[in-house]
Amino acid sequence: SLTLGIVGLPNVGKSTLFNALTRNDVLAANYPFATIEPNVGVVPLPDPRLDKLAELFHSEKTVPAVVSFVDIAGIVKGASEGAGLGNKFLANIREANAICQVIRVFDDPDVVHVDGRIDPSSDIETINTELILADLQTLDKALPRLEKEARTKKENKPALDNAQKAKEILDAGRTLFQAQKEVDFAALRELSLLTTKPFLYVFNADESVLTDEARREELTKLVAPADAVFLDAKVEAELLELDDEESVRELLESVGQPEPGLYSLARAGFHTLGLQTYLTAGPKESRAWTIPQGATAPQAAGVIHTDFERGFIKAEIVSFDDLMEAGSMAAARAAGKVRMEGKDYVMADGDVVEFRFNV
Ligand code: GDP
Repeated sequence: SLTLGIVGLPNVGKSTLFNALTRNDVLAANYPFATIEPNVGVVPLPDPRLDKLAELFHSEKTVPAVVSFVDIAGIVKGASEGAGLGNKFLANIREANAICQVIRVFDDPDVVHVDGRIDPSSDIETINTELILADLQTLDKALPRLEKEARTKKENKPALDNAQKAKEILDAGRTLFQAQKEVDFAALRELSLLTTKPFLYVFNADESVLTDEARREELTKLVAPADAVFLDAKVEAELLELDDEESVRELLESVGQPEPGLYSLARAGFHTLGLQTYLTAGPKESRAWTIPQGATAPQAAGVIHTDFERGFIKAEIVSFDDLMEAGSMAAARAAGKVRMEGKDYVMADGDVVEFRFNV
């Protein structure tokens, strides 16, 4: 499954956040046979629709979609020079599907900041610089070959053109993600450039920032077009210790947060990875299934079982809202709200689905 790699300077709260990510028990409850790597944290994607479906269908349980985060330990500055840990750092990032940088915006005289001060743009630049340098090395190595290939075959020209354009962008200190409208990532795919991966930023903040609308907006603008998430990693860890809703609500209120930060992190992570869900419901379970944005009905069926994709006939689909308004599947059908969709149908968020297939 797709993962986000967590990176950041030392002392920004990566371990604190990662511990919170690994301490929830969603995997153990729903995927008893999954092996969980020690450096992978799995968070459920909050979805209030599942409880409503479970009520309607008398489901025994609900199974949410999940988002996986990988802890990418290792030094940052000098990583692109490739010494020991630096190599491993870059190799781990290469394996992740998106990059999630934790940035410290909390103030605490007891916790040393590596650069001596809180400066989000400089933190971002430090990480970006290492990734940009690594990509430039990859490009410099590949360009002579791409030039030769472009000379011998015309269809190899786009790869060369885009590689040259990418080099210009990186030389100017920008990541390819920041310049995604200017290059064709598909033409660069074989190079697995690190900065073409989508980025997500987690601002590890204290109450003063969490409640400061203007400051949050400024930080959100700083990282656009990437998603920004604001949370207090220490509070997230404390929230997981609480087992009654009342105490959770009180703690969140005391730091001015409407919901746990892990919820927004899960949603932003899911969005950054380009994923969406569809829903199934029955007496056994009500469940959210993960598919890439733009997946067709047979591809969606294939997520449940590969045989479902192969033997796909059609999908019976009702939107969650229509289903709730009708009050039952039978009533939704009677109201003409249940559609039969074929193999070209592109799944929409909130589709409640039953697949028909040959086995
Ligand atoms: P890492 O080096 O990025 O993994 O950072 P750690 O998670 O080890 O955090 C470094 C120190 O900062 C620890 O003493 C944490 O308790 C503290 N810390 C982490 N998050 C927060 C936070 O949101 N607020 C405050 N005040 N301290 C934090």
